[in-house]
Amino acid sequence: MNYYSTNDYSSEMSFKEAVITGLPKDKGLFFPREIPTLGEDFFESLPSLTLPEIAFEVLQPYVSPDISPEELRKICGEVFHFPIPLVEVEKDIYALELFHGPTCAFKDVGARFMSRCLQLFAEPDRPVTVLVATSGDTGSAVANGFLGLDNIDVVVVYPQQGVSEIQEMQFTTLGQNTSAVGIEGTFDDCQALVKQAFSDEELNQKKNLSSANSINVARWLPQMVYYFHAWGQWKKQHPEATEITISVPSGNFGNLAAGLLAKQMGLPVTYFVAATNRNRMVPDYLETGHYAPAPSIATIANAMDVGNPNNFPRIQELYGHHLENLQKVVKGFWADDEEIKGTIKLVHQEKGYTLDPHGAIGYLSLRQLLPELKTPGIFLETAHPAKFKQSMEAVLGQEIELPEQLQAFLGKQKQVTDLPNDFAIFKLLLMQEHKEGTL
Ligand SMILES: *Cc1c(COP(=O)(O)O)cnc(C)c1O
Repeated sequence: MNYYSTNDYSSEMSFKEAVITGLPKDKGLFFPREIPTLGEDFFESLPSLTLPEIAFEVLQPYVSPDISPEELRKICGEVFHFPIPLVEVEKDIYALELFHGPTCAFKDVGARFMSRCLQLFAEPDRPVTVLVATSGDTGSAVANGFLGLDNIDVVVVYPQQGVSEIQEMQFTTLGQNTSAVGIEGTFDDCQALVKQAFSDEELNQKKNLSSANSINVARWLPQMVYYFHAWGQWKKQHPEATEITISVPSGNFGNLAAGLLAKQMGLPVTYFVAATNRNRMVPDYLETGHYAPAPSIATIANAMDVGNPNNFPRIQELYGHHLENLQKVVKGFWADDEEIKGTIKLVHQEKGYTLDPHGAIGYLSLRQLLPELKTPGIFLETAHPAKFKQSMEAVLGQEIELPEQLQAFLGKQKQVTDLPNDFAIFKLLLMQEHKEGTL
């Protein structure tokens, strides 16, 4: 498969080049030249396929010929080694639990896939520096996904005040080939610094920079896999089913863009919900046709505090920049902190299910929209509630137990370089050589 930039239809890069480059020079986003479709046989066998098997079928056309079928099978087995169960919360509303991986968020899928692609593609004499801005979960998923790999360093850039304590522990305590930079600013500031680093010539001459944000095709594409898996599980439980709505708690909109790509490959999802917190530019756009990125607002669903979603151009591309076509498939929804907290409390009391603040928006969107859409619904549970221990305990008034994966971080030493929101200083730091755990 070749990829073009959403800013230049005539440009052309292989999968390998797109993964290594991350972001096209013209600041568009890489997009597959063709969208393959999967046949009836695939969909008939879907309920009985394992996650690695689904991953192989879905991803093969996108990575060929740069990754051989043998290599791809191996990668899919390593990446999808944790369960992604579909759990009933109440009649016709199910949670797709994407938080059973090593860092307890769905970003494990993309980060692990990308780390293995980069390792395959990295040249032994040109070490790669992976630069990643995070609003909370990307940093830990990427740092963990790449931990200990030869020839690759990871630098996590995050807003000092914008992530939960446990999230911070997950990417500031690993050391080895990872390091962390805390910025006095918002996630958008971090994202802007990283973007500027990629377009800085001097820096790129000195360092082989690569992006691990959700703009990288190697992070974006594997997210399709669990949408197919969700449908397979749904069909297994409801063999007569023909329709479903999937609600996707969204920030940068990579996850939703992957679901929409899966639909164009043939996945029979009737509707998707673009569910956000108060950073509601996409729901507003779907309603008014007016797209107005704005500075991000801090919310309790902090991994979705994004004011200028970087994957949105892919959604536009998927629907030919045609608002009406997009509106037929994607329904907007947003919730404020009070609604999120109220939902967490209610569902905990009445259904005995613990939502995290992000999944809570997905659940609430289905509660409100399904009567009109007239389909059953699945929402993505994008992170384990214990990642937001403090805010969850304040809402529920009781202690939340940490899963094993998160307990491992407690009591470890944080290593962070704190910086003002200033590109010149950020660049100076990146120009230095990497030492373990610091820059
Ligand atoms: C990153 C993240 C999101 C948003 O995903 P996007 O692909 O950026 O839209 C939602 N929930 C959680 C828990 C996340 O970590």
